[in-house]
Amino acid sequence: MTGESGIGYLGVPRSATVSDAVSVNGWKIRNRGQSHYPEVYAILAATTMPFHGSEEDVVLWRADEDEFNASFSSAKTWSYLREKRCAVTWRKLTWFSEAVPRHAFMVCLDFRNRLYTEDRMRNWGIEQCCVLCGEKNETRDHLYFACPYSFTVWLQTAGKLFGNAISPEWNDNAVSLLQPARSRLDTVLRRMVFQMVLYSI
Ligand SMILES: [Zn+2]
Repeated sequence: MTGESGIGYLGVPRSATVSDAVSVNGWKIRNRGQSHYPEVYAILAATTMPFHGSEEDVVLWRADEDEFNASFSSAKTWSYLREKRCAVTWRKLTWFSEAVPRHAFMVCLDFRNRLYTEDRMRNWGIEQCCVLCGEKNETRDHLYFACPYSFTVWLQTAGKLFGNAISPEWNDNAVSLLQPARSRLDTVLRRMVFQMVLYSI
């Protein structure tokens, strides 16, 4: 919290343990650091002072901001260190235990709109058409499934599972896939078929 200069202001050596910074009279910390690091002093004031010499120091593993454990957990440590972002709604359509990893990875690219479709390649000076139907404006939404060819594949493969809910619109299919189906097996099958068709196209 104080960086390099804090050691000088507080008068606590870098190698000090907690017991080195505590005496029977209170914290052995200089007062002149107070104006520079008010938050450090506020935390110390709010903390119950350890009784000098009452216990041996122990080493603990940090698992979260305020959680320290005697045993090491790689999952908790990774979770604490990693950069956290909001969960996206489509995660359930991408990563689930039955998913085929190479299909799931492709679907992840699809949801992030990172395929090399015409609308993105155009910025690099490359012009290409949909190889399935010849449409000039090839986009993610065209491929899945505004394209008459790919929609036929989608309909023939998943039509019976989806019934009336099957759609040529990317968003409509995503919304319908997020709804629970008649059974868990149906839900898993629908998501697997969706992934497999996206991957194959
Ligand atoms: Zn097409």
